Amino acid sequence: MKIIKEAEEMRNYSARLKREGSTLAFVPTMGFLHEGHISLLREAKKHGDKIVLSIFVNPTQFGANEDLDKYPSNLENDFRLAEAVGTDVIFLPEKEKLYGENYQTYVYLEDLPGHLCGISRPVHFKGVATIVTKLFNIVMPDAAVFGTKDFQQLAVIRQMTKDLSFGIKIIGAPIVREDDGLAMSSRNTYLTEEQRKTALVLYKSLQMAEDAVKKGENNPRIIIEMCEKYINSFDETTIDYLSVCDPDTLDEVTVINKPVLFALAVIVGSTRLIDNGILMK
Ligand code: AMP
Repeated sequence: MKIIKEAEEMRNYSARLKREGSTLAFVPTMGFLHEGHISLLREAKKHGDKIVLSIFVNPTQFGANEDLDKYPSNLENDFRLAEAVGTDVIFLPEKEKLYGENYQTYVYLEDLPGHLCGISRPVHFKGVATIVTKLFNIVMPDAAVFGTKDFQQLAVIRQMTKDLSFGIKIIGAPIVREDDGLAMSSRNTYLTEEQRKTALVLYKSLQMAEDAVKKGENNPRIIIEMCEKYINSFDETTIDYLSVCDPDTLDEVTVINKPVLFALAVIVGSTRLIDNGILMK
């Protein structure tokens, strides 16, 4: 497994692999890898001859009061896990090199960032779209794999890839969960033992919503109020949002008459957690 830190070296390496006839599949991450990330690497192997993983904690997608400075990291463990699953290259850029002095170019989307996480994290998707564009330009992959755990992020990247004609196949991979249902996340490491138990409110809400719709409930308000009441009954929970929305536009729906996205963000202690699932009859 090769580790590359310089953008130019990465670009040259990708170009050489392509000249030799290989296809490249790419998995961008912020590191502190867990089974969710590994599942993306496994999926990537189905879409390319060579697998490139990037690890970069992208400063432009963090708001001023967010966890950029304390984002967890364990590169040694990341390298071990990535190699074990057959990663060919890890791209590990430095932030000073990716965002040089006088950096001023960003990628904005008109509508998708105005929903869900974008409301409480107004700079987030501008940062995501910009870094993914930069990484696509450096790595030049044929395909890239993203988790549906970050459903809105995947929607933003699909839209941007189409709008800007990147010609890269975007693949969405399912959410990997702990045994009790908590969606895996590098941020779960911030939780105390008690908060880790409370964090299950996200998955439980998802299950409650799924059950309600299966039993015939078609009013999103009733589902949201039921989940709000449940989540608020726990200490240390603050709801950011609960949304029943169209999976393509992310616009809220007023009646459930087709498969809809149920997405939620809850702050447990001081850790913001997200989850989502499709509700259908
Ligand atoms: P991150 O390192 O958190 O930026 O995530 C990198 C990629 O891994 C993104 O495409 C995420 O959606 C994906 N990911 C994170 N957690 C999970 C999970 N539990 N299951 C599947 N994919 C995930």
